Amino acid sequence: FVKGTLDFIKNPENKDNAVFTFVDITKEKELSELLLKQSIEDALTGIYNRRYLEDKLERHVNLAKRYERPLSVIMFDIDFFKHINDTFGHDVGDKVLIATAKAVSENIRNTDIFARYGGEEFIIVAPETTKEDAKTLAEKLMVSIENLGFEEGINVTCSFGVVSLEKPDTKETLLKRVDDALYEAKRTGRNKV
Ligand code: GH3
Ligand code: MG
Ligand code: MG
Repeated sequence: FVKGTLDFIKNPENKDNAVFTFVDITKEKELSELLLKQSIEDALTGIYNRRYLEDKLERHVNLAKRYERPLSVIMFDIDFFKHINDTFGHDVGDKVLIATAKAVSENIRNTDIFARYGGEEFIIVAPETTKEDAKTLAEKLMVSIENLGFEEGINVTCSFGVVSLEKPDTKETLLKRVDDALYEAKRTGRNKV
C-alpha cells in the first residue's frame, strides 16, 4: 500500500513537470487493520467479542422493530466447564472453547452474529428468525456440540436459552430474558434448550 502525492514543478522551459511521490504505508495499514480486528474479535476463539455483539444487537433490535421483522437471540453456556478445567487443565479447557465455537460457526447462517459473551458463555443474534426456527437451530447446535469428539474422552454439553423480540423489548430486556431462559435450562437439568 502506498500513499501518493502529485506536484507540478516548472522546468527550465517554464513547462509544468509532474512529480509523483509515493510513500510505502503497508506497515501502518496492516497495523490499523490488526487493531480493528482486535477490537471486535475474541482472541481465543476468533469469533466476535461482547462489545461487537452488543453494538450489533442494538442495531438489529431497532431494525426489527421498525420493519416489524422477527429477531431471535440464543444464549448458551458450557455445562460444568469448571470441572473440565479442574480435571484436564486450562489448556484443554481452552481447546474445548475453540472447538465449541467452531462447531457452532459451521452450523449458523452468515447473517447470524455469533460472539463469545463471557468465559464459557456465547450468544447468537439471529435476524429474520422466528422463535420456532431459533429453537430448532439451538437444538441442532446442542446435538453438534454433544457429538464433538475429544481425545481426552471429554463429553461436552451446553444449556441454551432462546428468546424472540416482543413489542416492548429493548436490547437490555432481550439480554435479561435470554439469560433467564438459559438459567432455567441449567436449573432444570442442563444439556437442553
Ligand atoms: P454450569 O454448568 O452451571 O455452567 O457450571 P460451570 O462449571 O460451567 O460454571 P462456572 O461459572 O462455575 O465455571 C466457569 C469456568 O470457566 C470458570 C472459569 O475458570 C472458566 N473459564 C472462563 N474463561 C476461561 C478461558 O478462557 N479458558 C478456560 N480454560 N477456562 C475459562
Ligand atoms: Mg458453564
Ligand atoms: Mg458461565
